[in-house]
Amino acid sequence: MTDVDFAAIRRQFPILDQSIHGHPLVYLDSAATSQKPQCVIDAESEFYRTINAGVHRGAHELAARSTMAFEEARAKVARLVGANSEEGEEEIVVTAGATAGLNLLATAFGNASVGRGGKPAQRFALKPGDEIVVSKAEHHSVLLPFQELAYRTGATLKWFDLAEDGRIRSDTADEVITERTKVVAITHVGNTTGAITDIAPIVRRAHEVGAVFILDACQSVPHLKVDFHAMDVDFAAWSAHKMYGPTGVGFLYGKRELLEALPPANFGGSMVELAWMDKPAEYMAPPARFEAGTQPVAQVVAAGVAADWMREIGMENIEAHEKTIAAELLKLGDIDGVRILGPRENVDRIGTVAFDVQGVHPHDVGQFIDSLGIAIRVGHHCAQPVHRHFGLYASNRASTGVYNSIEDAQALVEAVSKVRSFFK
Ligand code: PLP
Repeated sequence: MTDVDFAAIRRQFPILDQSIHGHPLVYLDSAATSQKPQCVIDAESEFYRTINAGVHRGAHELAARSTMAFEEARAKVARLVGANSEEGEEEIVVTAGATAGLNLLATAFGNASVGRGGKPAQRFALKPGDEIVVSKAEHHSVLLPFQELAYRTGATLKWFDLAEDGRIRSDTADEVITERTKVVAITHVGNTTGAITDIAPIVRRAHEVGAVFILDACQSVPHLKVDFHAMDVDFAAWSAHKMYGPTGVGFLYGKRELLEALPPANFGGSMVELAWMDKPAEYMAPPARFEAGTQPVAQVVAAGVAADWMREIGMENIEAHEKTIAAELLKLGDIDGVRILGPRENVDRIGTVAFDVQGVHPHDVGQFIDSLGIAIRVGHHCAQPVHRHFGLYASNRASTGVYNSIEDAQALVEAVSKVRSFFK
């Protein structure tokens, strides 16, 4: 137990103070997107009211202030994940979200293979015979960009299998990752199973063979204390909207020396030093090289506020709080005919609990639950291979946030216990 007043924290979320279908709203869909505290909502509108201007250009005062706010937000986000934020050492790239960050990498690796500007970036070039490794637990935002990269370059896509409970088989790293492996992209926390991947043996093996290790940190940054330096990951992508920040923005962490070596993926304004008609352009240093076009400045500033807000509560406290709710949600597995798709034990997992109700379609389950004011997700959660692993096409998924209470989880368990008799 922590001494943080989580009931008071919940009151910072105006959206939660409402009834749905005559019941107080119980929001258990934070793996899809989190709700926003008032300070984040205020930060965005305050930006527009007081300092809105394009960043990194313009000689006027507002442009200087918005640039400062944008760069301060980058530093706040860096502090949340154990990244560098000193000028010239920045390791955080602004993206449109995890999907955009992962596509940025997959595109940049492809660009390296064809030799952008006549200078192939050998460090990332891929060719037939090379291997790209993912896992069966990946969100489609990891699977598809790297599968397409394999198709584009002639590299072979390989993957980690899953244990019965859906955990990624990290113990097979030495066999799955070979001397031919160039890229390994793995989720830190399964968006269906809630399982925390034991990434250490995978990172070690990837580096042993000289491969680049990419972490999908979408479902870990909001719930766990992460330190990308300590974890020795090369790149990590995540979205602000799942960590109490705005939609439409996310971040890509990269080790500085790798960002320096990585070719750009998007081309346009604000990322080029010198552009010519008759010879290749000279691009800016990272992170600007990867931030072509006008940036979502207000959203980045608000995401910085979200990062500081989380650090103030303390990531260890958030983790401990959500763990108590996960324990309650895992009681779903005790209901007759209900199967949890993921680890049953409340160990090395977060409060994302997907479940199947035997004989009842997930959409029917979701509608019944919704009629009681409880929001959960139904479908394949953009992770079809992991559902196939469990012999299903779709499931129901409850997922926690910092604002949830034990009572929220109890309300869901009680509702689910009535599903089968309701649909009999
Ligand atoms: N990876 C994981 C594990 C996710 O859960 C999600 C979102 O659901 C994504 C990637 C993609 O995030 P976004 O849709 O915000 O780009």
